[in-house]
Amino acid sequence: MDFIDRLVIAQERAEQRFVDQRLKGLNNSHKLSATECIECGGPIPKARQKAVPGVQRCVPCQELSE
Ligand SMILES: [Zn+2]
Repeated sequence: MDFIDRLVIAQERAEQRFVDQRLKGLNNSHKLSATECIECGGPIPKARQKAVPGVQRCVPCQELSE
């Protein structure tokens, strides 16, 4: 593999990272709250969904993940 090949691969990876970050940014901008915890599958109270936009975990799981 010569220098140019490595340069092209590095550039492609950088672009892929950029696209991934943009997609993540789009997901975050929607701020959709989950109705069920992604960790334990338990219900997330409506009040918590409103209080924490984009919330994905119930209170106990959130505390464990922090
Ligand atoms: Zn949970």
